[in-house]
Amino acid sequence: MLFKQWRFLVIFAYIIGLNVFLAGKRPTNKCSSERDIYKTEDVENVLKRYSFRCIYEDGRYFRCFNCAHHIAFIVDSKEMIFDGTKLFLTRPVVKNPRQNRFSIAAVDVEKILKPLLEPEKIKKYLPNGGCIVIDAGHGGIAEGAKNSKLKLVEKFLTLNTARALQLALNKLGYRVFLTRDSDTDLSLEQRGQWANKLKAQLFVSLHYNAAESTQARGIETFTYTFASHPSTDRTKALVSDGLTETNNRFDIQNTYLAYCIQKSVTLRLGSIDRGVRRARFGVLRHIHCPAILIECGFLSNDDEARRIATNIYQEKLVSGIIEGIQRYLHNTIMRTAIIQPIRILKDFQNKKLSLPKRPLLKPHDTTNKQAF
Ligand SMILES: [Zn+2]
Repeated sequence: MLFKQWRFLVIFAYIIGLNVFLAGKRPTNKCSSERDIYKTEDVENVLKRYSFRCIYEDGRYFRCFNCAHHIAFIVDSKEMIFDGTKLFLTRPVVKNPRQNRFSIAAVDVEKILKPLLEPEKIKKYLPNGGCIVIDAGHGGIAEGAKNSKLKLVEKFLTLNTARALQLALNKLGYRVFLTRDSDTDLSLEQRGQWANKLKAQLFVSLHYNAAESTQARGIETFTYTFASHPSTDRTKALVSDGLTETNNRFDIQNTYLAYCIQKSVTLRLGSIDRGVRRARFGVLRHIHCPAILIECGFLSNDDEARRIATNIYQEKLVSGIIEGIQRYLHNTIMRTAIIQPIRILKDFQNKKLSLPKRPLLKPHDTTNKQAF
């Protein structure tokens, strides 16, 4: 009997010891969530549900198409072209070395592919008294990007575009507010607080770009980065990126809104499509509704800067943003949304909408004379 008890104790101790030993190797809760972050799915299996057929071409492209959509994944790259518009995934699509199969991050399936393929399933978001808030980037001492040669300053251009966008949206019956309607400096928090106070249903922040390379040109649309995942310009998330911020509640709506706007703006302007990207921009972080930030062209590229300063560019830009908003609302929440305009798509589709002509404001130039 004593022997049996002793044997039982040895087995018990062995099990405990083994558990302690394995604890060091076993994934902790943190590791297990990390495992979720890096979870992947087979591209063809995902797209089979939507009747896609896929082919692997040139050792570089994995193309998938059904009767409605064409998707091109660039292998070993985060770039994906969906119906002609570029979006960046959180991680590259990679080929399984032993088979002709391709894997995609599970988060990209949930937060990028699904909203694009099934926008009608995107959850409706209907706060009371909703409106659209347009944010003119920079202002006051925060002048933003500049092209000194052409005397163009970002803070004036964003305000000009924001006013034109507000007028055009008002004409369609939307309630629209600007975060600033003068050359004032607002903090990123103030812009977000203002939008939340107004119970914004959509938030669009307007910016113009600049890069060290004067060759860089084109349009980029940003959404707030998914929690625990890297922004587009990184390969790995930082430890501090694990936080789920307020605007992460709208990851799916953000993706679809950004896609709609990026698509229509690049098509209208004929600009280079630099893609839908993600960044942890402070101005988007605390917004309580779908929110995007659009970089409307490069001031550091003289040719593009000259075009930006023309009324025709501004008109196309504004109509492109509106078309993107309309497409987003029409395909997701339009039928029941409070911000449903008085005249919906009809005027827009019938091209009855004439956009307001507003000469550009220039620094030290309040005479509204058009230089280009
Ligand atoms: Zn800016």
